[in-house]
Amino acid sequence: MRGLMMDGPLLISSIIKHAARFYGDSEIVSRTVEGPLHRYTYRDLAARAAQLAQALLALGIGEGERVGTLAWNGYRHLELYYAVSGIGAVCHTINPRLYHDQIAYIANHAGDRVLFLDLSFVPLVEALAERLPGVRAYIIMTARATMPATTLRNVLCYEELLADLPAHFDWPQFDENAAAGMCYTSGTTGDPKGALYSHRSNVLHAFSTCIAETSRRVQSNRSHMPIVPMFHVNAWGFPYASLMMGSKLVLCGPKHDTASLYELMEGEAVQTAAAVPTVWLGMLQYLESTGQELTSLRALRVGGSAAPASMIEAYEERGIEVIHGWGMTETSPVCTTGSLKPEHRESPDRLAYQLTAGRCMFGVEMRIVADDGTIQPDDGVSIGELHVRGPWVAAAYYENALASADAFTPDGWFKTGDICSLDEHGYLTIHDRSKDLIKSGGEWISSIDLENAALGHPAIAEAAAIAMPHPTYVERPLLVVVRKPNATVERADILAFLDGKIAKWWMPD
Ligand code: AMP
Repeated sequence: MRGLMMDGPLLISSIIKHAARFYGDSEIVSRTVEGPLHRYTYRDLAARAAQLAQALLALGIGEGERVGTLAWNGYRHLELYYAVSGIGAVCHTINPRLYHDQIAYIANHAGDRVLFLDLSFVPLVEALAERLPGVRAYIIMTARATMPATTLRNVLCYEELLADLPAHFDWPQFDENAAAGMCYTSGTTGDPKGALYSHRSNVLHAFSTCIAETSRRVQSNRSHMPIVPMFHVNAWGFPYASLMMGSKLVLCGPKHDTASLYELMEGEAVQTAAAVPTVWLGMLQYLESTGQELTSLRALRVGGSAAPASMIEAYEERGIEVIHGWGMTETSPVCTTGSLKPEHRESPDRLAYQLTAGRCMFGVEMRIVADDGTIQPDDGVSIGELHVRGPWVAAAYYENALASADAFTPDGWFKTGDICSLDEHGYLTIHDRSKDLIKSGGEWISSIDLENAALGHPAIAEAAAIAMPHPTYVERPLLVVVRKPNATVERADILAFLDGKIAKWWMPD
């Protein structure tokens, strides 16, 4: 017997409709690439997303077509999040920090039809344009007055595209399993792989983020700042969850230096914020060296890499709750919440619980699988590879059967490549990674690519790139090489050889 309940699709457009109607005055503050702070409300966001939706349709963007973005956290990027998905197209956020070959690969593999870019990325896209034959138009996310001179062809101005279009749009209804967004991960070996999110997965994931936010010790979601970039797994779902909760949203644009982040957080009375440990470690050094305090911040979310105990303690001493979470591009990303069980909040072991990667959330299932395939008990000590499944976990990589066959089990689990244990409360501890990668400041460095680049040197016989602990970046690469017999090569020669062959921040320390 079927239940007698309505069957409304879970669509991203429902979030913006609800937010504009019931939190219409909530503010979105963005630091712009052009310079000044930009302020408007959810109501304005909804109106401009409606205009953008019509502009996209006029550009010929059809259902399921991919729209690439190369953009910082800002209001125009947010408009794209809602407008592109809202018309049934796919918002494909590209990480501009990847090296050129990867960006070209990703845009081509995704089949991006048009590319929206912030002013900062005009030189990058000019350098790549010849390698992007499928891109029909480049839309620079600025006004006419600040449009740059460019060698790009088929260039449009974002503000001109929106001008004069009606501020209302009837968002179409369609299957909630339709693709909504896309993000490639370089956190695997080989070429980057695409996770293709659906409306259903994004909406359910956002619900879970709201639950995590409201089940904390400190409930203060009035002003939120996702420092985590909107090109990294939907900024951990906050562009959706914040609108569901009605929080003021503060977006930091291109300025990620600690002083600028501090100024924005203080200026906008930010109460909760989310970032990788590198950002929070840098902020701590800033607070210590300047003697200043984050007077509004009540809780911070940290994830993407392990947050060190000293960092957690230092923030907690300042009255800022640290919420440590685990997730991946393939898992939308959030699968754990760092909110402690009530009995652990006041316990003497509080720090030990906070040091875990959080507790398994409802909606995600986890299992720990030993090398011999046996499922480990939830005892907090038995170790194996973490497998996950659930409605916001990828079921396959986009158009990559080979990688999918490797990463997903026949019985429907995703193999994370993280070596973990899980305890009886659902607290997850990450012990190691089986993937041969280095994560520096929240961004991946492929050990294999680094080793192969070094092996191109005529004097090098063998090379190994190893992750070393680092106080700010969490990990940095160490390159160890074996010289060929009778060859002479020194550290400086190798670094000079690598220069230009790898991204600057991949350079071994
Ligand atoms: P990405 O897909 O780039 O978000 O990277 C996901 C990977 O980052 C995971 O598979 C882990 O290896 C790592 N990671 C994420 N969160 C944490 C955490 N809290 N502690 C340690 N490693 C983490």
